[in-house]
Amino acid sequence: MALIFRGSTCGLCGERLGSLGPVVAFPAFVCNRRDPLFPLSDATVHAVCLAEHPLGQEALRRRDEVLARCGPGARVCTVCDQEILRPDDYFGTGYLADEGHPLGAFNYVQLHRVCFGQWAGAEALIARLEEAIQAGVWDGPTLRVDPLPRFAAASCGEDRKADEAGGQPSGPARAMDEAEGERGPLPLGGEEG
Ligand SMILES: [Zn+2]
Ligand SMILES: [Zn+2]
Repeated sequence: MALIFRGSTCGLCGERLGSLGPVVAFPAFVCNRRDPLFPLSDATVHAVCLAEHPLGQEALRRRDEVLARCGPGARVCTVCDQEILRPDDYFGTGYLADEGHPLGAFNYVQLHRVCFGQWAGAEALIARLEEAIQAGVWDGPTLRVDPLPRFAAASCGEDRKADEAGGQPSGPARAMDEAEGERGPLPLGGEEG
């Protein structure tokens, strides 16, 4: 979650957050640096700047979609159909690419890490990610399977923190943990003081 502190600036216009009224805080909902929405991931922006931005509505829609598809309470393993309760057991792809892209077929896949080997899509996901990296359309965490899957060397700040904390299992969707309980734009009203 983007932290707001005195002197924070808008992710879109660069001006101080206290200067233009209400602000909207985005969780880390995009992991691919090549995604046009990446600049808004984990960013806090003026509500007026977001409203004027050509991708503003798409950013809000995607953020809500990510929360609905892999937020708390929506984590069911695609292999065994059981809820994934422990964060250490969780593997999720989050949003990878547009539906029209081969990677898009793997958006919001969630499973127990131990179930990955039994998942019919495992080989294909690894192959499609490799192709996307080669083609230059994916610049985000890379998938390691050793033998359990995890996303590593993440672009997401949340994943990077997890790595620094001792290599916690992580995925693009992991960052959504911190978004629990938050729905819709957050009119925070600017800085204090
Ligand atoms: Zn702004
Ligand atoms: Zn499972």
